[in-house]
Amino acid sequence: MPRVGVFGGTFNPIHFGHLLIADEICEFLELDRVLFVPASVPPHKPAGELAPAADRFAMTELAVREHPQFEVSDVEFRRRGPSYTVDTLQALSPRGDLCLVIGSETFLDLLTWKDPRTVAALARLVVVPRSGKAFDPDAPASQKVLRELGLEGFVRPEAAPGCPEAPVLVEAASLPISASDLRRRACEGRSLAFRMPASVAAYIRDHRLYRQEG
Ligand code: ATP
Repeated sequence: MPRVGVFGGTFNPIHFGHLLIADEICEFLELDRVLFVPASVPPHKPAGELAPAADRFAMTELAVREHPQFEVSDVEFRRRGPSYTVDTLQALSPRGDLCLVIGSETFLDLLTWKDPRTVAALARLVVVPRSGKAFDPDAPASQKVLRELGLEGFVRPEAAPGCPEAPVLVEAASLPISASDLRRRACEGRSLAFRMPASVAAYIRDHRLYRQEG
């Protein structure tokens, strides 16, 4: 079975923070590919700030072009209703041995997701401490998530092959870039350079995304 990293997100817009952690995880965990899964109807994000799903998908496609192991999946665009990760993993599981890549703040939010135990059973969790947000895997908040998911502690990437079920904590380089800051910049007509692929910045400019007038 191929080893597949599943990287879900709103990608509103996709940026170098997302791309760099995907590349590092691909290398650290020796994945065959990383599947970027833009959420069509993200259950956790305010709809008002979302660029149209088709634009977020198009930007993700532009961004992954330069990496031979990166692909975009339209699995959440082929379903109606909220884009729940549990449904996505169920649809993707015949395609490979899955790892679900998430930032540490997303991990701490996992118990609010639909059917989080099944999520953790369908894919190995790979958690990246996010730049600027201290993450302590031993803190009560992290331990509570692990316990409720039926998981023991985290392992480091070097121990991952020997513990195929355990969640992995990867100190991948997390850039101090956030999609919310980029949306603000786009809205104010400020530079997006060196924060995302030039093709994505051009797409935002050409389609006037994140401008107040829409
Ligand atoms: P927003 O600022 O709109 O909340 P976001 O980038 O956090 O944007 P998503 O596009 O949904 O939102 O993020 C997808 C995943 O990427 C999440 O698990 C998030 O934690 C992770 N992520 C986003 N940016 C970074 C970064 N700079 N470093 C590490 N992980 C990141």
